[in-house]
This record gives sequence, structure tokens and C-alpha cells, in this order.
Amino acid sequence: MARYSYSKLSAYRTCPLQYRFKYIDKLPIEVAPSIEAFLGSRVHDALEWLYRQVAATRVPTITDVLAAYESFWDAERTSDLRIVDRDLDEAAYRATGRRCLELYVARHAPFADGIVLGLERGFQIPLGDGLVLQGFIDRLMKTKDGSYEVHDYKTSQRLPTPEQARADEQGGWYALAVRHNFPAARDVRLVWHYLRYDEELVTTRTTNELEALEADIVRRVREIESANEFPARESRLCDWCDYLSVCPAKGHRLAVLALPPNEYQGEPGVALVNRLAELRLALRAFTAETESEIARVEQALLAYAREHGYSVIVGDAYEAAISETEVMSFPKKEEPSRPELEARVREHGLWDEVSDLSLAKLEKALQRDELPPAARAALEPFGTARARVSVRLRKRRDSADRSAMDTDGRPSPTEP
Ligand code: SF4
Repeated sequence: MARYSYSKLSAYRTCPLQYRFKYIDKLPIEVAPSIEAFLGSRVHDALEWLYRQVAATRVPTITDVLAAYESFWDAERTSDLRIVDRDLDEAAYRATGRRCLELYVARHAPFADGIVLGLERGFQIPLGDGLVLQGFIDRLMKTKDGSYEVHDYKTSQRLPTPEQARADEQGGWYALAVRHNFPAARDVRLVWHYLRYDEELVTTRTTNELEALEADIVRRVREIESANEFPARESRLCDWCDYLSVCPAKGHRLAVLALPPNEYQGEPGVALVNRLAELRLALRAFTAETESEIARVEQALLAYAREHGYSVIVGDAYEAAISETEVMSFPKKEEPSRPELEARVREHGLWDEVSDLSLAKLEKALQRDELPPAARAALEPFGTARARVSVRLRKRRDSADRSAMDTDGRPSPTEP
């Protein structure tokens, strides 16, 4: 039976390689837990403890809640925690957790908003064909008006907009879970507590949205189960990836980071990339110079042809045929008047006639899984799978670390 959680499915979307490491190869995690995840877990522990007290008719004070938080932190503290942000230390993160709880308690005490139906409550959603979705709800409540509320605590630094909260897929999973497990539930409200900001974002999902989500989840599970390749998808989240040390996209970077400057410069991979960058930059400079020389010669030919009334000028093996016609020039994509032009084209019903399909955009949207399920199903059969090998040079985001070690004093090249 295939079991999928929201985090399992979103791991594939974030980076298929990370998914493979975690769920297929089941590689052991050899790095310390990130402090952000640790902080989030301890705040969750404290809030779970708080609501267990409430369920037992005790109303804890902020002092009680903070004492519980501190003891969870000390009890769960591993010998090492991974801190990516070099400006912060453990004490700062620990204080952030305290602040989150202080804000929460000040806003919600005496915590009498409804009946607690479950804390860290597990759920399963059978979707047929042996597929089961599973997960945990931080807190499930039944309110006085008979509605169900799913409460989720967030300690992240990112506060989404109401539109982003409305589109949040995880919320859809929870709404599905309540609908499947409590068929009598009339309304399901999703209450996201952004604890750092003392903000609550409340959303709901329609039946149509939940049906579309179910269909999309089934499609994505099928895609994962039929995948043969699990490419690395680098992003800023890599710094928090548990598999950074075994990732082929990051391995060389980590290996050379440990080298002293003299060995770094001679390292074969570094030397080859430097040479390739040099050659591509040289080619670009040569191309630009040649193009401008061609433009100069063409102008001179045109002037010569005009002066003598010729339309063909001969050379040894080639001849240049010169013609002059007037053509219209329209604003390019980046020019300010372009939207107005497009509006007029649409207004006159000419869009289909003069616009063209961008295959690059279509391929990108399919690859990034950005199309609605129905559109993907309709368009995919037109595509043909092919192998593509590319060596793409890009500017290193962390190049400042190493450029300081360059011995020849050359400025870092622009992206070739
Ligand atoms: S480090 Fe980045 S690219 Fe590599 S597996 Fe992890 S998320 Fe993917």
C-alpha cells in the first residue's frame, strides 16, 4: 500500500533527488538537526502540553508554559544543532521560541474557544487503488457553533499573504482529513498561527477545491511512482537539506571549501571550470567585436551603393545584394508601450492570428509542475522525451568566499 504524507509529496516537488535519498534510498541523516526545526518542535511540544492541561480543566499561566518549553528544550537538546544563519546563536533561537509562546498565551488565554478533539492527531485518507494519505494535525477543535477547526502552529520567519494562505496545499490536506474522518462536519476552518508575528490566518476550502486537490495528489503520486530519474533541484533550501554532504550538486563545492587556497587553485574541477569560463567569455567578446565590425562594414557598403546607385557589389568569391525597404517596428516585450499594444491586438480579435506559442515556456511549466491537472493531461501526450546534456556556467552565489583567495587580483568574471 502506498502511503504519502504532505511532507513526502512536497519533498519531491522541492527536489526529486532529496526525495530519492530520503524515501527510496532511505539514507541515514548524518548532519545535526537544523535549529529552526528544533525550535519549531519545542514550541509545538509546549503548546501540546498547554492544551493537554486545558483538556484536563487546568489553565496554565505563561510561567507554566515557559517552564514546560525550557524543560522540553533541555530534554531534547542533542549534542549539536545546525545553525545556518551566522548572525544568530542558540540563545537567540531559544528566546524566539519564548517570545512566540508569550504572544500566543497573551492572545488566547484562558483557551476556552471550543472543545479539543485531538492534539497531534494522526489521520489517514484512503483514496482508492491502495493509496493512503496520512499526517498529523497539531490541534483539532470543535467550536461552539459546531464548526471544526484545524489549528497549525508556524514558527517560520515567512508570513504569507492571505492569498498564499488560501492556496496553501497543506491546508487542503487537513480539510480533506476532517471531511474524511468527520463526515458530519459542516464547516472546516483552517487556522494558521504565525507565532512570531502574533498573526492568525483563517481560510476554508470548497468541495470543488478539495476534489481537484485529491485528483492532483493522485496524479503526482503516479508521476513519482513511475519516475526513473530524480534530478537535483537546487534552491536556497539546500542549506537546510539533510543530504547536503552526499548531494552531487553540492559535493564539489563542499570538497573545495575545505582546501587551503594553494590547493584550491590547482584542483582539477576548479581549473576546468575556470578555463571554460575564460573561453566562453573570450568567445562572447570576440562575437560582440565581430558583430560590431559587421555592422560598420554593412553601413559602409550601403553608403557606397547609395553613392553609386548600385544594388549589388561584388567581391572575389561573394557579392553583396543590397535592398532597402521600409518595415514597421513595434515595441519589444520590455518596452513600456508593449502592454498597450497587446491590449489593442486582443481588442481587435487578432491575438490568435499574430501571437505564437512559446514552447520554452510550456516545457518549463510542465517541468515545474505548474499547470492545472486537466491542462497537463491534455498537453503531455504531444511531448517527446529526449535526453539533454548541458554544461551551463553560472555565477557562484558564494564566490566572495573564494574570490578573496585569488592570487592574480583579477575581478570575478561576469556569468559567461
Ligand atoms: S542539497 Fe539541494 S539539490 Fe542536493 S539533494 Fe538537497 S535539496 Fe536537492
